Amino acid sequence: MILPSPGAATRAYWEAARSGRLLLRRCPQCGQWRHPRETACCADAELEWHVASGQGTLISWTVVRLALNPAFAAQVPYTITLTRTTEGPHIISSLAGDGHALRCGMPMRISFDTVTADVTLPRFTPATERPA
Ligand SMILES: [Zn+2]
Repeated sequence: MILPSPGAATRAYWEAARSGRLLLRRCPQCGQWRHPRETACCADAELEWHVASGQGTLISWTVVRLALNPAFAAQVPYTITLTRTTEGPHIISSLAGDGHALRCGMPMRISFDTVTADVTLPRFTPATERPA
């Protein structure tokens, strides 16, 4: 499995995930919510971290059945989802399995998958499923 290695720009995001909170960035000047990896919005405005609702809507997904990278061989099939958060930014995450129950427009909610002592992956899952 390939895991993220947080840098200075996203360290707060990954630390919050370890404590079960989803952070998004927000521009203090215009109020626009931004993706965690975005670092700029209005000129001279430094984006701030805020706790997000953890709610969203499924926009799209794709099922991966062939692991082109051997690091993912043990996980196929798995599903990559694109969720529009209630705040606006779109977040890509993954789910185990073939995504047979997914439908565009369905409500999603965040869950947190503790993979190692240092890495917890935020994953959007159907809101109708119980958190893992
Ligand atoms: Zn702005």
